[in-house]
Amino acid sequence: MTTKSKVHIEKAILLLCEGKSLTEIGKEFGVTRERIRQKLSWIDGYEAIIEHNAKKRKEECKVEIFCQYCNRKFKVEKHRAMKAKFCSRECLNKAKPPKTPEEKRIYNRNRTRKYYQKHKNDQRFKEKIKQYNRNYLQKLKTNPEKLRRYYDKQKEYAKKRYHSDPEFRKRLSENSKRAWRKLKADPIRYKKYLDRKNERKRLNYNSKKGKI
Ligand SMILES: [Zn+2]
Repeated sequence: MTTKSKVHIEKAILLLCEGKSLTEIGKEFGVTRERIRQKLSWIDGYEAIIEHNAKKRKEECKVEIFCQYCNRKFKVEKHRAMKAKFCSRECLNKAKPPKTPEEKRIYNRNRTRKYYQKHKNDQRFKEKIKQYNRNYLQKLKTNPEKLRRYYDKQKEYAKKRYHSDPEFRKRLSENSKRAWRKLKADPIRYKKYLDRKNERKRLNYNSKKGKI
C-alpha cells in the first residue's frame, strides 16, 4: 500500500464492517465504488461481508403490511408492498377459491363470518340481515323436513348457549314470560294451546300404556 493512495484501507474496512456500501465508502474518500472494490478485494472474507451488508440493508428497506387472510403483520420489499397479499404460502392456499362443494361451504362461511364481524354494528347491515333471515324462514316453511332440521339446530344452539351465557339465559326467560303473557291475554289462542297440550299428554299416556 502506498501513501499516495487516497483510500485509507483500514478505515475502509471499518466502514465496511459498519454496514456501509461500496458507493458510500467511495464517497468518503472521493473515489468510485469500483476503486474501493479493487482495494478491498484482497481481503479475506470481503465478499461475505458485502453480502451480509446487502442483506441487512434489504431487510431495513422492507415495509410492514397486513396479511389479507390471517391479518398478521409481515414484511415485504418495497416494490412488492402494493402487490403482496399474504404472509405465507399457507395463507395463500387457504385464501384460494375453493373447488369441491365442501370447501366452498367452509370458504363461504368463513367469509360471511368475517364480513359480519366487520359490519355488525352497522344499522343498515343489521336491517339487511333481518330481512334475509325473514326471507330464509319463509322459504324454509315450504319444506317441512328442512324446517324441522332447522328448529332442531336452533334448539341445540340455544341449549349450548343457555348453559354458557347468563345474559342469554336472562333474555330467554324474559322472552318466554312475555310470550306467556301474550298467550294468556288471547282466549282463542290459549284454548288452542291447552287443547294441543292435552292431546300431547293423551298421546304420551297411551304410548306408555302400549295402546298405540
Ligand atoms: Zn397470513
